[in-house]
Amino acid sequence: MKPKLLRTLAALRRETARWRAHGLNYAVVPTMGAIHSGHTELVTQGLKRADRVITTIFVNPKQFAAHEDLGKYPRDEAGDVAKLGKAGCHAIFLPSPGEMYPHGFATTVSLSGPARAGLEDKFRPHFFDGVATVVAKLFIQTGADYAMFGEKDYQQLKVVTRMAKDLDIPIQVVGIPTVREEDGLAKSSRNVYLSQDERQQALAIYRYLMNAADRIRSGTNPQTAARAAARKLASLGFKVDYVAARNAETLAIPKDSGEPLRLIAAAWAGKTRLIDNIPV
Ligand code: AMP
Repeated sequence: MKPKLLRTLAALRRETARWRAHGLNYAVVPTMGAIHSGHTELVTQGLKRADRVITTIFVNPKQFAAHEDLGKYPRDEAGDVAKLGKAGCHAIFLPSPGEMYPHGFATTVSLSGPARAGLEDKFRPHFFDGVATVVAKLFIQTGADYAMFGEKDYQQLKVVTRMAKDLDIPIQVVGIPTVREEDGLAKSSRNVYLSQDERQQALAIYRYLMNAADRIRSGTNPQTAARAAARKLASLGFKVDYVAARNAETLAIPKDSGEPLRLIAAAWAGKTRLIDNIPV
């Protein structure tokens, strides 16, 4: 199927109004493009819940700091359209920065709760405000029934779920398990930055998260297990931003034994920042 390409808010509104007029419901899959099978899995899961799926592709300048990779973030519109079409996506919204942030734009969604858990927010301080602002706009602009997000970006999933609830945006945020390469590396648009050696090294993040989860299940204190995984990764040459065991819902530091836990990590392999997480 060839998805319909929509570049303006007016075109988006016309298409979604047509769907509504036909009594169809629809899911939105927000992305920054460089589509891989993690993203197409979100489309597949969207199609299971809704009659139509719209993917958005927007490399959001508001979620990148000046020193981050906005300029070199991988972009491949033709490839993305082909992959999304093959996955069964009906429409793609590809707004320009000017369409999303017209002259005079002056509003930012400001967050607390899971957005201030001391994980990604500690290392990328304006990341979630930028994400929440664009995601709130995309939720409102599309008026979708469902929003498909990957567990790969676990803190982001919790942040946008909270934000939609707090702002009374009538959309159901659905979290989808991380799609991995055969050897376990979480699929990511940023994996293309990895050299061959770094690609091998990168596997260790998932491996040591699994190892820490096993240790916690057999009685090791979660913080002790997380710290050991961080030390191990550092000894392998990673610059570790964090490895943390957190409450799987609130992302708070766990208090009781028995609460649901998530192990979450971010580490640099060379110049590439990788994130991953798993349930315990
Ligand atoms: P991105 O454009 O890569 O920042 O992410 C767009 C959406 O795809 C987000 O909801 C991500 O969590 C999700 N995503 C990215 N990689 C994966 C993956 N390996 N498995 C599942 N979802 C993913």
